[in-house]
Amino acid sequence: MINAKNDAITQENVSNAGRSSRRSQPFVAVPPGSERIDLHCHSRCSDGALHPHELLLRAENMQIDVLAITDHDSIAGYQAAQRVLAEQRAARVVLIPGVEISTRWEGFEIHILGWNFDPEAPRLTALLTAQANKRRERSVAIHGKLLKQGIPAEDLPDPHQQPRDAVLTRLHFAEALVKARHCKDIQSAFDRYLGRGQCAYVASQWCSVEEAVEAIRASGGVAGLAHPLAYGLSNKWLRRLLVELKACGAEALEAVSSQQAPWQRQWLLELANEYGFYVSMGSDFHAPGKYRELGRNLKYQSEVAPVWTQWSKVENG
Ligand SMILES: [Zn+2]
Ligand SMILES: [Zn+2]
Repeated sequence: MINAKNDAITQENVSNAGRSSRRSQPFVAVPPGSERIDLHCHSRCSDGALHPHELLLRAENMQIDVLAITDHDSIAGYQAAQRVLAEQRAARVVLIPGVEISTRWEGFEIHILGWNFDPEAPRLTALLTAQANKRRERSVAIHGKLLKQGIPAEDLPDPHQQPRDAVLTRLHFAEALVKARHCKDIQSAFDRYLGRGQCAYVASQWCSVEEAVEAIRASGGVAGLAHPLAYGLSNKWLRRLLVELKACGAEALEAVSSQQAPWQRQWLLELANEYGFYVSMGSDFHAPGKYRELGRNLKYQSEVAPVWTQWSKVENG
């Protein structure tokens, strides 16, 4: 069992902001009985390898029932996939609007997932535009630092030539450095140039956790914490984050993911239960490869309520 008593923060500090319904109907209804569900993956509109339509096709092949494309600070991938689906008569996949917002919290970069919002809601679009501008400024700064290191401009992606709805991440720079043989692999590109404290590192100025959660909620969506164990937070800091997330209205915890040890899944499910979060489930699929795959190892077996149950309650008429 998890004992919260030793922590400075206890359940008493936890507000009741979560698990409240703000609208009677979800933006997209999830058919009851849907089992193959993946609420976290990336397309080429952020740092994924596949075009949105390829991602959809892959989801079909993997027999996914419900998919959320959650690109970093962008819904362009979702929108492109939605246009493809709209042209199909009998699509199997139910596509949920999704996004993964980068935030700053106590010096950590924390990723907030948002689902089933109104993709045209001005509050969220304004936040994503601001995030995209920050990302663009950051990529211009990284680009400048790499040039100063003697990397030729033709070996790098040009941040000034990016389409408005495309996202340029550090991974794109790393890939370019590997391709032009300045580094042997992605990891050494981060170790030598792009990682924190290295010569081409630029700290990001993302929005706060509260701003991300509020924008998602104000747009009719549900916000949740992505990959809670990926931030290097101690137990105490993770609990502190959960309390703050709950207080500002986040409702879900990504407790079930493709690559995790059974004890990790169990522990996250217990935390979700303890703090009153719905459970989310996703692969964080980026590219075809040996490890992550859409829907892989995602079978929901828990008493804690999954986040999608509230999306099946569609009123008639
Ligand atoms: Zn993430
Ligand atoms: Zn992700």
